[in-house]
Amino acid sequence: MHEEATRRLEIAAALRDAIDHDELVVYFQPIVDVSSGRTLGAETLVRWQNPERGWLEPSEFIPVAEATSLVVPLGRWVLLDACRKVQEWKERGIAADSFYISINLSAHHLQDPDVVHDVTAALELSGLSAAALVLEVTESALIEDLTKAGSTLATLKCLGLRIAVDDFGTGYSSLSYLSNFPIDVIKLDKSFIDGVATTAEGETMARAVLALAHTLGLTAIAEGVEDAEQARTLEHLGCHIAQGFFFARPMPAGEMAALLEHQSRIFGKRVSHTRS
Ligand code: C2E
Ligand code: MG
Ligand code: MG
Repeated sequence: MHEEATRRLEIAAALRDAIDHDELVVYFQPIVDVSSGRTLGAETLVRWQNPERGWLEPSEFIPVAEATSLVVPLGRWVLLDACRKVQEWKERGIAADSFYISINLSAHHLQDPDVVHDVTAALELSGLSAAALVLEVTESALIEDLTKAGSTLATLKCLGLRIAVDDFGTGYSSLSYLSNFPIDVIKLDKSFIDGVATTAEGETMARAVLALAHTLGLTAIAEGVEDAEQARTLEHLGCHIAQGFFFARPMPAGEMAALLEHQSRIFGKRVSHTRS
């Protein structure tokens, strides 16, 4: 226990420096139209290139960042860096007008008094339109302080961006927040996707969640799609947008730009995608 506590303290101290010294790197994972394979948007997933420890995955430092409130400056940094990169891709004409970026917003950051300012600043400094931004929040972030979360989300929505519920189905909250909060997208957790093509129960669960999303007029995105059978079944169930290793792994900005450039030659620059 003592060793673990020491390790967390070391990580917290090093993370503080990492944010100031550009050791964090934003990776992008395509969010894809299942039938055409076209990239509609991307999720940002942070990585840490630590001089002593090498590459660190979020699971190794996001929990420490959450526990120490460092997740707020980290989130601010990711917001600005990602918005700048996406705006650059749009200006270069390789990202479609409708291309969007989906950014994880921690529970801490959602409750921070400066969160609206941070999002506004990232949009203004980068020049990115709010319509190209989706903020991902988890169910647990929403239920921590229902009234405050609701009013913050409403203020953020007024900027013109969209709100997604991440890891949908893993929380244990009542579903009433779905109709009370200004939510646009639900991201079906990987646990719903794992059995979708192999067990009757898995398919039934996914079907029920998708019916709920569609009834409420929400866009459903499947997370963690790992094979063709899952993709096919999801399409069949009416889930047309997905993300997962089957389509693409998270990649650095340069690779993401190359992928968008390639796709813009195949599909053209403009696309309007309204299906949910
Ligand atoms: P998440 O937001 O639910 O992100 C999806 C995670 O699933 C990512 O893990 C991604 O690499 C992984 N994934 C995507 N497709 C597949 C698949 O087909 N199979 C499997 N097994 N995994 C897949 P990652 O990058 O390790 O991130 C883990 C979590 O860390 C994220 O979960 C998110 O909660 C958090 N995180 C990542 N970046 C940030 C950030 O910038 N800010 C905050 N606050 N949290 C972040
Ligand atoms: Mg996410
Ligand atoms: Mg998720």
